[in-house]
Amino acid sequence: MCYLESKKELVKIVKKLGKNKLLPGTSGNVSIRYNDNKILLTSSGSSSAFITYDDIVLTDIEGNIIEKTQKKPTSEIGIHTLIYKKRPDINAIIHSHSSALSAFAVAHKHLSCILAENIYYFKNVPFVPYFKPGSYELAMNTAACFENKDVNACFLLNHGFVLGAKNIKDAYNMTIMAENIAQIEINAYILGKFETLVCVNGNNDAI
Ligand SMILES: [Zn+2]
Repeated sequence: MCYLESKKELVKIVKKLGKNKLLPGTSGNVSIRYNDNKILLTSSGSSSAFITYDDIVLTDIEGNIIEKTQKKPTSEIGIHTLIYKKRPDINAIIHSHSSALSAFAVAHKHLSCILAENIYYFKNVPFVPYFKPGSYELAMNTAACFENKDVNACFLLNHGFVLGAKNIKDAYNMTIMAENIAQIEINAYILGKFETLVCVNGNNDAI
């Protein structure tokens, strides 16, 4: 995909994420790997509702800006660069601040085994301890989770959710799915009856 098309796709996905309340206001950030060792990512303070091509910043894999711009990359750039360095199979990253997933991050609660999608996509979603947003410690500890090739997402405790995928469409679909699963779990809890797949099947065979 050419440079302009990549920028266009990123803007389109960020707007979609915004419409689905996964990046409320100016929160969260999104990136794609471009031509192996470059990264296109949202700028600091950009709003998902009003994002334009000018809000997308091009950096190298170390996070150095390589195309002249008035904008600064997101302060969470370290999360993106360090994950890309560790995982050549990941080409898109979404750091979301959606309400249901962030509720799990605040409650320090893992997603329960309630639907087949949990097992298929989100069997192992580790916790990253709380560190100041934008800090090197947060970036390092988040990227460390992704050293495990089975990990595609993690909770940032008292903060949000980070997900990596092989392309931006997959990252979008998986983030939407994770938010939906988290919301279903909260809804079931409110309804007062909560069964995991192990409860339903009595064993792990069907999982
Ligand atoms: Zn954040």
